This record gives sequence, structure tokens and C-alpha cells, in this order.
Amino acid sequence: MHQPSLPHLQGQDPSVAGLVEAEARRQFEKIRLIASENYVSPAVLEATGSVLTNKYSEGYAGRRYYEGQQNVDPLEQLAIERARTLFGAEHANVQPYSGSPANLAVYATFLEPGDTVLGLSLPMGGHLTHGWTVSATGKWFNAVRYEVRRDTGRVDMDQVRELALKERPKLIWCGGTALPRTIDFPAFAEIARECGAVLAADIAHIAGLVAGGAHPSPVGHADVVTTTTHKTLRGPRGAMILTTDEHAKAVDRAVFPGLQGGPHNHTTAAIAVALAEAARPDFADYARAIVANAVALADALLERGYDLVSGGTDNHLILIDLTNKGVAGKPAARALDEAGIELNYNAVPFDPRKPFDPSGLRLGTAAITTRGLTPDLMPRVAEWFDEVVVAAGKGDTTVADRVAAEIRDLMAAYPMPGWAPLG
Ligand SMILES: *Cc1c(COP(=O)(O)O)cnc(C)c1O
Repeated sequence: MHQPSLPHLQGQDPSVAGLVEAEARRQFEKIRLIASENYVSPAVLEATGSVLTNKYSEGYAGRRYYEGQQNVDPLEQLAIERARTLFGAEHANVQPYSGSPANLAVYATFLEPGDTVLGLSLPMGGHLTHGWTVSATGKWFNAVRYEVRRDTGRVDMDQVRELALKERPKLIWCGGTALPRTIDFPAFAEIARECGAVLAADIAHIAGLVAGGAHPSPVGHADVVTTTTHKTLRGPRGAMILTTDEHAKAVDRAVFPGLQGGPHNHTTAAIAVALAEAARPDFADYARAIVANAVALADALLERGYDLVSGGTDNHLILIDLTNKGVAGKPAARALDEAGIELNYNAVPFDPRKPFDPSGLRLGTAAITTRGLTPDLMPRVAEWFDEVVVAAGKGDTTVADRVAAEIRDLMAAYPMPGWAPLG
């Protein structure tokens, strides 16, 4: 089945059409292991590409600053209802443009500039917006950072409690971008209660696992939950904030008019579509399959002598420390990409190397699971991975073309949602 690909774009602007088509082929041919990426469904793509992009809707349903909201109001309400039902939340705001603005809205809801925030340090797996130095959140607020334990690679909950009681933050973040282990939401909630802080759970990476029952939910433990919609949740690029009735008005006001103008209605529609997909029983199977693939890949890498931060994974994500392999993250990531395995270099906890040239690699299984890859294939993926990393360590560039061709052959058997090669 071939989708009729971009006829208007091809006629009018072959330069852009050519790049979009080349990107589709690239996504089709590679083993995509970037932990924050996925493949959305054709229905999500259609909603994203719809005429809703033509419409301005500043405000909220029934309280807009522009006329003509006969369709946008019920659409946004539908997205909100689906988000509330899927996650069991009292209130949802689906307007944040992306994960970072959603997190900024949490600050705008609960903090004044200069207030203290406690978050996981970026090189330990936290996100920029959890108060890292170079982020506005680290400059405008008094950011204090907790870490993971050196011996276990897991979040140091004793340190979280110690810092919370000493620094008395107004806001505590849990969650991160490179955490391979389950987040203990009840433990964070207990600490937040003890020090009188608001607890924000950032589930950007794991939202799909939470929705599918493959990771515990923060709802009922955290005062506010933020998430992107485009990672494991497999929706369009966007974000949501879930909260209680108590904080609903303040969160809504922080998003608009506090930080944003008009919501991206085409994204809202696509979020609604993705939320309905995530509510289906087969999405729970998908969430479980993501974790099964990650565990199988982690096991296969351990067998080949790779050092995994925390020793493995509970979710979709694996963080590898390459130090014992004698190659840094950046050259390894480059070599792997040339060989058809796409991922990103990443700092590992207590990394002795610089952030722009760190010791690790981060990978995730959400996208390959969408393609239909199964755990029995993970030893093969680890074999290719190992072959390329070992070659990169020796400065040997001769394996890339052969491995890339083998991977192209494999991936050709696994359909890509929304695109297929012609002929
Ligand atoms: C991806 C991510 C974000 C930010 O999302 P963007 O859409 O890239 O702004 C925020 N927090 C966490 C934990 C993330 O993984």
C-alpha cells in the first residue's frame, strides 16, 4: 500500500518535497533508537496536516478571543476529556506548544522568580527545564539539584529528602530524559508533603508506558503532571499538563495568557487522535512490547560486555557507559548512524568527559516497537551495534556500508506507519 505522497508539494516546491521524501525514506531504512522519538499513525499525520492550522483560538472553550470556534471548542474539549479519562486526571490542559513550555507553565503557576526548585541534575538524567544552569529555569529560579547514586545509578532518594528538608523548595520535579528505571512517585510525594513543596512529575518520556499500564502513574501522587505527546505516547509534537481541580484555573492561566498565545489547533486534533489510540487495548500491548524489547536489548548488550547505567532497564530506555570500550559517545553515535543505527550520545552519571563529548549513548525502543520489531531480534541488533562500536574504537570505517545494507534489508520487512517506498 503506497500513500499518494505530497502531490501538491511536489508540484509546487520540489526542494521541500524532496527533503520530506528523503526523510521518510531515512526513517524507513534505519533502526531508530532515539529514546524520545517514534512513528505516529497515518490518522495522527492527517490531523496534524489539516486545515485546523488556519485557525486562531486564543483562550479556552467558551471563552475565546476570536470568533469562529464552532469546531475548535468541541475539538479541544474532546482532547481534554480523552486526556482526563486516559490518565484518570481531574483536569487537563492540552495547549502547551511542547514539553519545555509546559514545564515553564508549571513554574509560572506555582513560583515567583528567585524561588527554590529541586530537580534532577541534567548530566544525571534530568531535563534542562528542571533547573539546569543554562536553562532559563536555572537562571530565573534558585535551582538545587539531586543526583543518582554512584553505586546503583538510581535516583538517590535519601539525597532528595535531605536537600528538600534543607533547602525547602517550593517545587520538586521528578522524572527525566535519561532514567532507565521506574520513578517512585509515592516516595517523591511523601518528601514533597514533608517539606511543603508542590510535586511536579514530568512523564514526557514514559507517558505511553503510563497510559498502557507498563509504568506506575503519577496521578494521585503529584500535584501536577507534565508530558510531551510525541515520545512513547506516539502523538504529534505537543504537550499536556494534568492537574487537580484545585490547581486547574491557575495552570490554565499560566499557559494562556501567562506564556502563550493561540493554541496549535491542528496539534490539538492530533493529540485527541493519539489519546484515543492510546486508550485502545492494543496500546497496552504496545507499551508492554516496548519494555520487552528494551529488556531484551539490554540483556543482549550486557552479554557483549556493555556497561549499562543502573545495570539494565525497567522502561523503554537504556543508557550505556562506553568507557570500558575505549570509545567516546560522540564518535560511536556518528559511526552507528552511518551504519543505520540512529541514537544520541549522552552524558552518563559522574561523567568525566565534557557534555558535548560525553562517555555514553542513550537509546530507546519505542520507535522500533511501533515498526513491529520483537525481542527475538534484539540480539541481532546488539550484534550490529557491537560490530560498529568496536570498529569505531579502532578507527575502522569499513563496516558501516555493509551493516547499513543489512539493516535496510531487515527494516524493509517492517512497515512504517504513514509511508511506504514506491516500487
Ligand atoms: C522531551 C522532554 C521535555 C521537553 O520536551 P520538548 O518538547 O523537547 O520541549 C521535557 N521534559 C522531559 C523529561 C523530556 O524528556
